[in-house]
Amino acid sequence: MAKRDYYEVLGVAKNASEDEIKKAYRKLAIKYHPDKNPDDKAAEEKFKEAAEAYDVLHDPAKRQQYDQFGFDGLSGAGGFSSSGGGMNMDDIFSMFGDIFGGHSGFSSRGGFSGFGGFSSAGGSHPQYRGADLRLRIKLSLQEVATGTTKKFKVKKDVVCTHCHGSGAEAGSGSDTCPTCHGQGFVVKTVRTMIGMMQTQTECPTCHGEGTVIKNPCHVCHGDGVVKGEEVVEIKIPAGVAEGMVVNVPGKGNAGKRNGITGDIQVYIEEEPNNTFVRDGNDLVYNELLDFSTAALGGSVEIPLIDGGRVRVKIEPGTQPGKTLRLRGKGLPAVEGYGRGMGDLIVNLSVYVPKTLTSEERAMLERLSQSTNFKGDNDTKRTIFQRFKNYFS
Ligand SMILES: [Zn+2]
Ligand SMILES: [Zn+2]
Repeated sequence: MAKRDYYEVLGVAKNASEDEIKKAYRKLAIKYHPDKNPDDKAAEEKFKEAAEAYDVLHDPAKRQQYDQFGFDGLSGAGGFSSSGGGMNMDDIFSMFGDIFGGHSGFSSRGGFSGFGGFSSAGGSHPQYRGADLRLRIKLSLQEVATGTTKKFKVKKDVVCTHCHGSGAEAGSGSDTCPTCHGQGFVVKTVRTMIGMMQTQTECPTCHGEGTVIKNPCHVCHGDGVVKGEEVVEIKIPAGVAEGMVVNVPGKGNAGKRNGITGDIQVYIEEEPNNTFVRDGNDLVYNELLDFSTAALGGSVEIPLIDGGRVRVKIEPGTQPGKTLRLRGKGLPAVEGYGRGMGDLIVNLSVYVPKTLTSEERAMLERLSQSTNFKGDNDTKRTIFQRFKNYFS
């Protein structure tokens, strides 16, 4: 495919000023930025094409070569045509990162000041970022165990469909701001205790953008966003816990004038569970044994968080307070927090009948004569130790 003329690529005149070239490139770079066009090969090509044009045209020496000799003038002179492969994304970010506001990488998070503001670092023009949204999600322990996907209808700023986010009526462009002449800031002279000082503040007319829209969109009044709502699907990984925050990038408020969309922060809440108590990734279950099973041994069925059941063996002579650990039957660790599966800890207690028939009473009275039923010192020590551990 034939290369397009660099001036054509940036959409500027042959005699465009350095400032016009920079502005034109910035607009294209934002429009075709990979953060805004994930997995869009065509946008990536446009992004690279604009960067290449800008690299040549913003450098007076290269620009002169190009004006005089066209693409041929650039071969071997450090232009991209010499390398044959065009620019790669890393080059673009490391060379022109400052055009995005002082951060190479231009991540949709972090690269710009968050929470609805915009960055104007480095004196370049700002890009708006939509505010983050916060949601609370209440999850059952079963949902925590498996992870879940929930749909929410959220009220938020959405891109204005009338102007496609530009904020301008069709065919209406932008003028250089008359107040700041495109600088984005105004200089004020103020009197201080140590004399007169000059301070720079954001331009009140264009709010730092440097340009004003000639004919603002009548639907959004120039913001490029309107109040709306959207159904968003939120995936919650397994193993989350009360108080955790799951960040869903790019689902928050749309940024003004085709800016960057904010995130949704999901605050996790846990519903109490009637069967299990959570201890980190472990689950604790209390099993009430009847006296004869504790004394004679046997087996009991224990419920699992996934709704299944498992049969466990009870040793003869099991004491109240003994615990069994069922490996891997607890909760999974959420990505990045801890490793592997938690356990299900079964705490065994022993049921003592509240009322007795006369026959039972007679049997127990006979048993109570036996010294074997008094509890030996070893067991007393073990149970005391368990009791102590419980409080430490
Ligand atoms: Zn609009
Ligand atoms: Zn201004």
